[in-house]
Amino acid sequence: FKRLSLDMRSKDELHEMGETFNHMIDLLETNFEKQKQFVSNASHELKTPLTVIESYASLLKRRGLQEPELFGESIEAIHSEAIRMRELTEQLLLLAKHNEQWNLHLSQVNLNEFLKKTFHAFQSAYNRKIIYNTEIQGSLEVKTDEQKLKQLLYIFLDNARKYSDKAITVLTGEKDHQVFIQISDQGIGIQEDELPKVFDRFYRVDKARNRKSGGSGLGLSLAKELGEVLGIRIGIESKEGIGTTVTLYLHVKNG
Ligand code: ADP
Repeated sequence: FKRLSLDMRSKDELHEMGETFNHMIDLLETNFEKQKQFVSNASHELKTPLTVIESYASLLKRRGLQEPELFGESIEAIHSEAIRMRELTEQLLLLAKHNEQWNLHLSQVNLNEFLKKTFHAFQSAYNRKIIYNTEIQGSLEVKTDEQKLKQLLYIFLDNARKYSDKAITVLTGEKDHQVFIQISDQGIGIQEDELPKVFDRFYRVDKARNRKSGGSGLGLSLAKELGEVLGIRIGIESKEGIGTTVTLYLHVKNG
């Protein structure tokens, strides 16, 4: 009887092991599929600017010497596509990291000063007005990775710039030991049913329309990862034709 029950148990265990094994294979297959999809999307995204560079370079090679007026437009196109490729490669490299590989360089950051500096730099770089209002009293310090927080803010500011042509407004405030940073634009907005998908890698609401704005569909997925690494919750609200508001919630310690 003892032997029989042992055999029964091992049969159960074998069955359980088999189930676990099948589950693991499923997970591996799904991950493999996702990776394949990622590589294929990434290659596609890199191929587009590369094709533009190649055709302008070959145009210059064939006719550049005889027709120097071709230079201006060609160099402009090659330069902007090269920038796009560099930005895309940087985003891809960051996304290829696992969360635990992100090295955080934490320091006490004076939030108001940091935000003013960041918005000022963005305004000058992109020539787009940012209207900044704050409800934060005094000087509030948060412990964070300044560089990564800046990167996160730039993704949202950059989207506000790309998908709207009006001034960007930012409001910050503090509530229940949480600081919020709210970035709003009055641009094209996002349809309600598209909203949950915009944080997916390579997802773009309207590919044709967005290609003109130079997006890759990677910005928000990178923002999601940065948010996780920094412990910042991200909320997004949008109305098509009205605009989009993104809110970042940062934890601040008592006192
Ligand atoms: P992209 O590089 O295409 O901007 P993102 O991952 O940053 O990629 O955003 C995904 C998609 O979400 C964008 O292609 C765009 O369709 C939509 N989106 C993001 N932010 C905004 C915004 N502020 N206004 C309107 N649409 C937006």
